[in-house]
Amino acid sequence: MNDVLTLALSKGRIFTETLPLLKAAGIEVTEDPESSRKLILPTSNAKLRLLIVRASDVPTYVQYGAADFGVAGKDVLLEHGSEGLYQPIDLQIAQCRMSVAVRAGFDYENAVRQGARLRVATKYVKTAHEHFAAKGVHVDLIKLYGSMELAPLVGLADAIVDLVSSGGTLRANNLVEVEQIMAISSRLIVNQAALKLKREQLQPLLDVFKAAVAKG
Ligand code: ADP
Ligand code: MG
Repeated sequence: MNDVLTLALSKGRIFTETLPLLKAAGIEVTEDPESSRKLILPTSNAKLRLLIVRASDVPTYVQYGAADFGVAGKDVLLEHGSEGLYQPIDLQIAQCRMSVAVRAGFDYENAVRQGARLRVATKYVKTAHEHFAAKGVHVDLIKLYGSMELAPLVGLADAIVDLVSSGGTLRANNLVEVEQIMAISSRLIVNQAALKLKREQLQPLLDVFKAAVAKG
C-alpha cells in the first residue's frame, strides 16, 4: 500500500469540482459517490484511491495520515486548525463567502451600535468568535451543525454566521446578508510526513493541480 496515494474528499461540490483537476492529471473516477455506498473509491490510476468523508472530517484524516492528501474548505480549516497539514495550493474551487445574516427587518447596525449582546448561531464558532471579538461586539455563540437559516426565524438567535454563494437560501428564508467576513475557497492539504516520504508520487500531481488552477 505504500506506493498508493489516498486522497480524502467530501461529496457534493468539492468532489464535483475536484474531478476536472484529477482529469488534468489523466485520472478518471468511475464511480459516483452520490449513488455508490462505497467510502473508498478506486480511480483509473491504480496508484490513487479516494476516501469519501464528511467535509469537516477531511483535515482529520489527512492530519493523522489516514489520507495522504485531501481537499478542504478554508471554513473547515479555520475551525480545525492546520497542525500537521501543509497547504500548498488554493484550488479556487467551492468558492463562496462567510457572512453574517439576520432576519429581514432586524436592525443589525443599530444593535451593534447600541452594544447589545447578540445571539449568534453558527457551525463556525471559532471564526465567528474571532470576527466579533475583533469588532468589539459582544456575542453569545450557539453551536449548530446545519440549517443555520432556521435559527433567526424561530427566535433561537438574532444572527447567523454561514456560507453564502448566490444568496438564494437566505432569500428563501427571509434573511439578509449584513456583513461579509471573508472569501472562502477550497485548499489542497497534504500530510506533512507523506510530503517527505511520498514526494516522488505526490509532487507530479501537485504540479498538475497548480498548472490547472493557474489556467483557470
Ligand atoms: P456539509 O453540508 O457537510 O457541511 P457542504 O457540501 O455544504 O458540506 O460544504 C462543503 C464545503 O463546500 C464547505 O466546507 C465549503 O468550503 C464549501 N461550501 C459550502 N457551501 C457552499 C456554497 N454555498 N457555495 C460554495 N461552496 C460552499
Ligand atoms: Mg451544506
